[in-house]
Amino acid sequence: MLKRKQFAVIGLGRFGSNVCKELYQLGHEVLAIDANESIVDSLKEFSSHAAVANATDERMLKSLGLRNFDFAIVAIGEHIQPSILCTLLLKEMGIKQVWVKAQNIQHFKVLEKIGADRIIQPEKEMAMRIAHQLDSEKIIDYIELSKEYSIVELVATKKISNNTLVQLDVRKKYGCTILAVKRRDEVNISPLPNDFIYQGDILVVMGHKNDIKRFENRGM
Ligand code: ATP
Repeated sequence: MLKRKQFAVIGLGRFGSNVCKELYQLGHEVLAIDANESIVDSLKEFSSHAAVANATDERMLKSLGLRNFDFAIVAIGEHIQPSILCTLLLKEMGIKQVWVKAQNIQHFKVLEKIGADRIIQPEKEMAMRIAHQLDSEKIIDYIELSKEYSIVELVATKKISNNTLVQLDVRKKYGCTILAVKRRDEVNISPLPNDFIYQGDILVVMGHKNDIKRFENRGM
């Protein structure tokens, strides 16, 4: 397992509580914080510590030792003001990575300005992944790296089956890189030029969105 890290998850709605549970299950130390006592109680067995606190109370955050954390996830919904204030306080305390869930575009813009290290829009991000999966039966999963680049999992078709990576020459023809090839339970994370691709393999492809689309539509 990777090194154990310390995370603070603030705001334990559906998103925050699931992040908390998953990090804890991965073996990390997780401090779960929410203003609602019954929510905090329900997270006790799924976190290292669970505390009732108002996320905008600087003294409270300090007394919980938040300044010693390297990561904080702010997932306060409802009103954007406490989320913004809490983010600001955490950055002022020197927490290196503060990831915040944004409610809407105004919230997103403010969070960007005050130095949130990553702004998450779960519904939007998930909707995009799902839309891309619906768009093409070849797409298994879709991850956006930036406005222009993405990583996509594509199912190898009959058309490209029984070819080596050299024969397919995806990089030269389409400017995309095949990062990995999944076959049943095995994942080949450093595919070699002479490795064969077979129908049903899952190709993990990185590249410019237009190039991936070209490969998907014309190359396979
Ligand atoms: P989700 O979709 O993840 O459920 P949501 O946007 O609907 O998120 P809420 O369900 O409102 O968000 O969850 C936000 C949580 O943040 C709630 O449990 C609420 O008690 C908590 N919260 C709101 N304001 C504060 C605050 N100032 N300090 C601490 N916790 C807060």
